[in-house]
Formats: sequence, C-alpha cells, structure tokens
Amino acid sequence: MQRQHVIELLREHLADDARIDLHAHTRESDGTHSPTQLVELAGAAKLDAVAITDHDTTSGWAEASSAARAGELVLVPGIEFSARFAGSSVHVLGYLFDPDDAALTAELARIREERSSRARRIVELLSADFDLDWSGVEAHVAPGATLGRPHIADALVERGIIADRSEAFTSLLAPGEKYYVTHPAPDPERAIELIRGAGGLPVIAHPAGDRRAWLPKGEVARFVRAGLYGLELAHRENTPEGRAWISELVAAHGLVPTGGSDWHGDGKPNPLGENWAGKRTLIDMVERSSGSLPVLPEAWQKTGNGARG
Ligand code: AMP
Ligand code: ZN
Ligand code: FE
Ligand code: FE
Repeated sequence: MQRQHVIELLREHLADDARIDLHAHTRESDGTHSPTQLVELAGAAKLDAVAITDHDTTSGWAEASSAARAGELVLVPGIEFSARFAGSSVHVLGYLFDPDDAALTAELARIREERSSRARRIVELLSADFDLDWSGVEAHVAPGATLGRPHIADALVERGIIADRSEAFTSLLAPGEKYYVTHPAPDPERAIELIRGAGGLPVIAHPAGDRRAWLPKGEVARFVRAGLYGLELAHRENTPEGRAWISELVAAHGLVPTGGSDWHGDGKPNPLGENWAGKRTLIDMVERSSGSLPVLPEAWQKTGNGARG
C-alpha cells in the first residue's frame, strides 16, 4: 500500500480524539504478553492505535501486524533502542523504520549480545549469595527475546527471594547494588542516526524520569542535529518539573511531543493506554518517515473503494 493511501485511510477512519499509545513491550523483550495479546488488549483498552516497542528487537512486528490486520486498531511498528550517555542508560524509541536496514540490524544484534552476557554476569554474581542459576532465568525468557533485568527478577520472585519485579528494581537489581552490571551501548546520537538512516523517527524515551540522570540541554541540541524527531512527554516517569523542561525543548527545537504507557504486562504497574499521542501526531509520523508503514485493519479496506475493486 502506498504511504499517501495509508495517510488518507488514517484521516478517514481515526476519530479526531483518537488515542495512540506509542510505547509498549511484549515477550519479545521484557513484557509478559505476546504481540497478539498486546494488540487485543489495546483494543480492549479502547485505544485506536498502539506501537510495539520492544527493547532492541523487531521480532514481534510480524505477529503484531497479523493481529492488527485481523482486528480493529492500527499497529505502529517500533523499537526501544538501548543507548548510553555519561554512564546512564538512555532509551531511544524508533518508529516506522526499515527493519531490514543492514547498519541498524547489525548494531541491534550487538546490543542484544551485550545484554545477554551482562545478564549472565548478573546471575553469576547473584548465585554466589542466592539459590539462583542461569537455567532458572532462562525459564522466564521467550525464545529469542531480548534479555533484561526483568527476566532475572522473575527468577528471583520464583525462588521467593523478592516479592515482584518492582522490588527487584529498588533492591538487588538497582544501579549501585553489588549485583548490578551495565551493558555497553552506543551513544544516543548513533542510535538516532541509525534509526533515521533506516527511514524512521527517533524519539528520546522518558527523558526526565526521576530515577535517571536528566539529559543535559546541550546534548539535546546535538541529538536534534543528528535527526531527533521527538521527546516522550506523556510518560509516568517524567517528573512535573521535567515535563516543563521537555516542553521548553520541544518548542525551542521544533520537536514533536509524544506519549505512551511503557506497558510491560504484569511486570510493571503501568496500564496500557495510560498515556498516548493523538491523531495528528500519527499522521505527521507517517508523512515524515520512509522506512515502513503502520499496519491497518483489513476491515478498513473493505469499506470505501476496496469493496468495488
Ligand atoms: P534493563 O533493560 O535490563 O536495564 O532493565 C530495565 C528495564 O526493565 C526497563 O525497560 C524497565 O521498563 C523494565 N521494567 C520492567 N518492570 C519493571 C519494574 N517493575 N520496575 C522498573 N522497571 C521495570
Ligand atoms: Zn523494558
Ligand atoms: Fe525505557
Ligand atoms: Fe520501555
């Protein structure tokens, strides 16, 4: 389908007050539900569109796309790219890029490898003090999924060492704890260039989360020069003060403010659809990207001219 035709269908079918959750995880990384369930639950949450943004992988796109075609809402293919700046983890959301781009896929494969060795290292450290081993962690990882601390947390919960994932993130697996290990990841500028290079739109995720170091303003100017599209404004982890700062940067640099729930299923309290972007943002995204298209419900084709031809 042509980009222009997709834009026309979005204009026609989406309500003016459409809600588009631009940040959600599945079992392909550290969420607890399948890509199909993401799409179904997004429908149940009365969303009009949902993005799949697993960490460092596009492996859930195909399944989520089938569910969207068969269903009633739009799927926005995306990713949450792990980057690192000044020792802090920085997440770069990417949307509507070409998932087969060679430079991008090579970098993502490297990051997944680094995440995997880092997870093993964390489990080694934990196993010195707790009854935990790698096979106990693996049992919580879907085949091929991007590894993260949530999978280790699941094994800790199963062994009764902690109560839930959230406890892991404030205790054993928190930065600064003796079991905490980071993984190497590229500078956000590189992530931004790779996503742009693949025709996609880079957005810095939760830029003012209170548990993380804030990005210095000078760095944002550098990221804008590299092709930054937006900043994730509507996200539960952005502090009120941070939202003011993000809004100033959005205005100063002509960026797009986005929003999303960062849903992880049962592992994190964020309900699907608690934050979202609007119809105009989605249409702007389709107009300004060139890598891939949102996936539309097949039913949209059958009404209008599709039925005749
Ligand atoms: P990692 O990517 O391994 O550094 O682990 C951090 C990831 O765990 C982030 O993407 C968080 O969104 C995710 N996460 C999942 N559940 C939780 C939780 N309950 N509390 C904090 N972070 C969580
Ligand atoms: Zn996550
Ligand atoms: Fe994140
Ligand atoms: Fe996330």
